[in-house]
Amino acid sequence: MVRSSRFPVPRIPVALLGLLLAVPPLRGDFRGDKTVFVSRELHVSIGEGDEITLSARPLPGEGLDAFIKRFTEDPGTKKEILSQNEGVKLLRNDVFVRVPYRLLSENYRRIAIEALFPQDTSDGKGWNHGVRALTGKPESLWRIAEWFTGDGANYREIRAANGLQSLQTDRGQQVRIPLKLLLPTFRDAAEAAAGPLVPLEFGRDEKGRYALYRLQRGEALYSAVVVRLTGRVHAEDVNAKAAEIAERSGISDVRTIPVGYAVKIPVDDLSPEFRPPDDPERIEEEKGRLEATQFVNRVRAVNLAGVTFVLDAGHGGRDTGALVEGVEEARYVYDLACRVERLLKKHTRASVVATVRSRAPCGDGRSEMVSDYRTARVMTTPPYDLDDPVAGVNFRWYLANSVLRQVEDRGGSEDRTVFVSLHADSLHPAVRGLMVYIPGEKYLKSSFGKSGGLYATRREVREAPRVRFSHRDGIKAEGVSRQLAEKIVSAFRSASLPLHAFQPIRRNVIRGGRQWVPAILRYNRIPARVLVEVCNLNNPDDRRLLVSRSYREKVAQAIVSALVEFYGGEGGRTVTAEKRRDPSSAPDSPSAENP
Ligand SMILES: [Zn+2]
Repeated sequence: MVRSSRFPVPRIPVALLGLLLAVPPLRGDFRGDKTVFVSRELHVSIGEGDEITLSARPLPGEGLDAFIKRFTEDPGTKKEILSQNEGVKLLRNDVFVRVPYRLLSENYRRIAIEALFPQDTSDGKGWNHGVRALTGKPESLWRIAEWFTGDGANYREIRAANGLQSLQTDRGQQVRIPLKLLLPTFRDAAEAAAGPLVPLEFGRDEKGRYALYRLQRGEALYSAVVVRLTGRVHAEDVNAKAAEIAERSGISDVRTIPVGYAVKIPVDDLSPEFRPPDDPERIEEEKGRLEATQFVNRVRAVNLAGVTFVLDAGHGGRDTGALVEGVEEARYVYDLACRVERLLKKHTRASVVATVRSRAPCGDGRSEMVSDYRTARVMTTPPYDLDDPVAGVNFRWYLANSVLRQVEDRGGSEDRTVFVSLHADSLHPAVRGLMVYIPGEKYLKSSFGKSGGLYATRREVREAPRVRFSHRDGIKAEGVSRQLAEKIVSAFRSASLPLHAFQPIRRNVIRGGRQWVPAILRYNRIPARVLVEVCNLNNPDDRRLLVSRSYREKVAQAIVSALVEFYGGEGGRTVTAEKRRDPSSAPDSPSAENP
C-alpha cells in the first residue's frame, strides 16, 4: 500500500508540452530520411536501404572518447565514426554526430527501434514488429533480423516462425521475432512487457473524443477496460470510472454486457500508451521513456561484490499497512525482508542495510512464525519508533540518502547502491500480482526537506536537511530503476509468481484523480530505487499466497536473482557477445559515465 501524496503534481508541465508540440514526432529531413526527435540531444533517422542512424550532440564537457563509449560501448569504433562524420576531431555541442545502427550499444539500438517503431509490441514470448515502410519500401526480413537479433542470417528462423514464403514484407504486416532470437535488450523488454496489442478505434461525439473497445468473450468492464486501458487499480477509482464509462456507452448493467459490445472510453481517461499516435501526452510519455532508456546500469559485480543494498520493509510499529481479513501487510513484508536479507548474506557478497528492524532478530525462515513487526523501528540515529507513519517514511529516505553518502565517502559509487521497498497492496479485487513502482522523472521535485522538531533530533536529517535533484538525476533514476524493475518482473515470471496482467511497471501512482511518485522514491537519492507491491491483499488468491511461507521464500529468491542479474549475472552467465567486446564490462570494472 502506498500512502496518499500531499504533494500532487500536475499531469503535464505546460512548458514541456509546448516544446514537444513544436517538434513533430516524425518528418523528413534534408537527406530525405525519416527522422524522429527523441530529445534535443538525440535524433534517430532511417534512410535509403533502411539504414538506421542515431544522431546525437555531446553533453556539456563530454569528450570524443566518452561520447563514443556512451553510444557504442566500444572504443574500437572511433575511427569508423570519425570517417562517417567528415573527420570531426573535436565535439561541439551544436553539431550532431551520426552513429550507424550496427555500431550502437544494444541499449541505443533499442532506443532507435522504439523511436522509429512506437507501435511495435512485445508480450513475454517475443517481439511483434509492424512493418512501416518508413522509406517508402517495406523493410526486408533480413533487415528486421539484423535489427532485432544482431544477425541478418536469422531471417530464416524468423521466416519459419511466421510461416512466410518471401523475404519481402508488406506495409502493415506483423512480423514476430521469437524471444530466443532477440538481442538481450529486446528480450528484457519483451519479458517485462504487459501483453498483446489492444484493438481500439477512435472517434468523436458531442461529449468529445473517445476510443471504442469491443468486449471479448469472458472479459469484464472492470479488468479488460478500466484496469487495462485507464491504469486505475484502486477499487473506488475502478468502480467510479466503470460507472462513468458504462453510462457513456449506454450500458445499464455492467454484469450483462454482450460479447462484442462497443464500449466508449474518453481519450482523456486512457493511459498514454493507448491514446492515438498523435496525442501530445502519448508523445511526451514515449519521449520521456526513451530519454530515460539511455541510462542503464553498466556496472558488473559478480555475486554483488561491492554492492550496497538498502532494504526497506514497508510500515511496521503501530502502522499495519493494509489490513484485509486480518492479514496485515506489515507483518508479511517484514518477514519477506528478513528472507531477502538472509538469502543475500548466504549467497552473495552484497552488504545489506535494513531501514527498519524489529527488536527481535529475524527467525531462520523455516518455521511459520514471522518476526514481530510491532517492535520495528526505523534505524536512524537515534532509531525512530514509527509513532507517525508519515514521519516514518521521511526518516526512511533520509536514512537511505545517508547510506549513499557513506558509500560515496568510502570511495564507492551510487551505481553500486540499490534501494528496494517491500509492500503489499490493497486494490480492486480483480487485480492481482506484482506491481513495481519506479520514480517517474516528471513527478520529482527539484528540492525538498524537513526541519525542526522530530527531524532536528536525527543525525541523518542534520547531515543533509534538503535533498536536491537535477533533470539529469531524474532521468537517470527513471532509466536505471526501470531496468531494475524489468529484472524483477522477469524473475517473477520465470518463477511463475503472479504479475499484474497489464502494466506491472509503473512510473507513478494514479489515485483519486491525482498522480504522484511515492515519497519513499520521490526524495530518495539512490538512482536504482523501486517500490515493490508483491501482491494485492484484496484479491483472495493473492492474500492466500502472501500468508504462505513458500510463496514468500520464492518472492525473496526472485528479488535476489533480479539483483544479481541487474549487476550482470553470476560469473558471466548473461554476458553477451557485444558486452564481451567491451573491456569495461569485465567483473568489478568501474561504471562508464552515463549521459
Ligand atoms: Zn504498503
